[in-house]
Amino acid sequence: MGIGIDIGGSFTDVVEFKNGEFRHLNTFKTEDVLKDPSLVEFEGAVYGVAAWIRGGRIVKAPNLRGNLNFLAGKKIENDANCFAAYSKWITKKKNIFAVTLGTGVGSGVVVEGKLYRGRGLAAELGHVYVGGDVTCTCGGKGHLECHFSGWRIKQIFGREATKEEIKAMKGFDVLCLEIAKAVMILDPEVVTIGGRLGRIFNEEDFTKIYEYLPKEFDVDVKIIGDDLAVAKGAALISEGLV
Ligand SMILES: [Zn+2]
Repeated sequence: MGIGIDIGGSFTDVVEFKNGEFRHLNTFKTEDVLKDPSLVEFEGAVYGVAAWIRGGRIVKAPNLRGNLNFLAGKKIENDANCFAAYSKWITKKKNIFAVTLGTGVGSGVVVEGKLYRGRGLAAELGHVYVGGDVTCTCGGKGHLECHFSGWRIKQIFGREATKEEIKAMKGFDVLCLEIAKAVMILDPEVVTIGGRLGRIFNEEDFTKIYEYLPKEFDVDVKIIGDDLAVAKGAALISEGLV
């Protein structure tokens, strides 16, 4: 049995994986979890968190507020890596580039059925430099998130934007270009897209990616709209399935 916990900016989801099936155990407000971490105390659980993780420790968490000290000594995993793990479960593919679009932009890589972490920080797509001088939540400048991300959309529009408005942003084009570059490096079978913002799109919205790819890179794009994708992926990782 595996337990996966997604510690999101607003909500924390707990999912169990048992006998090949997922079960949603609970959802808490993250502020309540931060006050009382015993709510999410589960033996052997993997905690998915929007953070840069190296050597089992959080080295940076650009888009997450609150004190995460309770995670010390626990098994933690980058939330986009958890999404990549769940993407493997859903698509049954072995080589995947997974992208989460939410407050920030996260990404994860599956190579030959295994998560690829590099030294821990592999595939931080949201923080690659693409130009301009807008300051990023990580402290850098001109990163992809400064052109396209939930926080940047809020900054530009000052309100929730519609899908059509978002697709018309120059930043959406930048996102597609950067995904295409990752595809060129990894040659995956599929690019999966999820997250609160990713879910509003459908596959056709991302045809722009192909404009930047030689036709031999015939990657599929798949939207995975599951709210619990990160928690489910964390549960798969806790079971050693990815
Ligand atoms: Zn950044």
